Amino acid sequence: MQVCRTVTDCRKRVSAYRQSGETVGLVPTMGFLHAGHMELVAAAKSRADRVVVTIFVNPTQFGDASDLDAYPRDEARDLAMLREAGVDLVLIPEVIEVYPNGDETIVETTRMANMLHGEVRPGHFRGVTTVVARLFNFVQPDFACFGEKDYQQLQVIKRMTQDLAFPIEIVGVPIVREADGLAMSSRNVRLSDEDRKAALVLSSALDTAEALTSPTVENLREAIASAIHSEPRATLRGLDIVAAETLDNISGPLTAPAAIMLSAEFGGVLLLDQRVITP
Ligand code: AMP
Repeated sequence: MQVCRTVTDCRKRVSAYRQSGETVGLVPTMGFLHAGHMELVAAAKSRADRVVVTIFVNPTQFGDASDLDAYPRDEARDLAMLREAGVDLVLIPEVIEVYPNGDETIVETTRMANMLHGEVRPGHFRGVTTVVARLFNFVQPDFACFGEKDYQQLQVIKRMTQDLAFPIEIVGVPIVREADGLAMSSRNVRLSDEDRKAALVLSSALDTAEALTSPTVENLREAIASAIHSEPRATLRGLDIVAAETLDNISGPLTAPAAIMLSAEFGGVLLLDQRVITP
């Protein structure tokens, strides 16, 4: 496995793959890898000759400097996991490599970035699309894998890729969960024991909603909100039920696939979960 710290080095190696006629899949991450990330790696490996993983904690997508500082990191462990999984190349750039002249040039999906989770995290999706566009240009893969856990992010990236005509396929990968149902996240290690137990309310609220026999946007919302409010350690941050692809507002009985995007805070740690319900 090759480890590159510079864009120039990464490009040189990827172009060698290309010259041999090999296809390239990209998995962008912020490191501190877990089984969820490894599922993206497995999806990429099953589709491409070569898999490139990036590890970059992107400062432009964090609103809060303390959240950025608290983001967990363990490069040695990440590299061991990626080597074990048979990854070909890992790009671990410093901030100066990715933003050599700052972030004068940004990429933003104007509507989709500022709705829903974007409304409570201003600038977050603009940071994500800005860095992903740069990573796409650095690596120029045939496809890139993203988790459905970050549902709005996946839709925003699909839209950016389409609008800017990147010749890159976006592959969505289903959520990987802990045995008890909690969606895997690098942030889970920051939960206290009590909050770790309380956080199960996210997946159980979605299970309850999914079990409704005649789902409407209103009764889904009611079922989820009351489940979250029944857990005193949880503070509901976002609950959006929207058209699965466009993220448009919907109401009344479900007539097409709807995405439920849920976020809540547990002792200062923001966790996400989501479910697509098909009527
Ligand atoms: P992150 O390192 O948190 O930026 O995540 C990198 C990629 O892994 C993103 O595309 C995430 O959606 C994806 N991911 C994170 N957690 C999971 C999970 N539990 N299941 C599937 N994909 C995930």
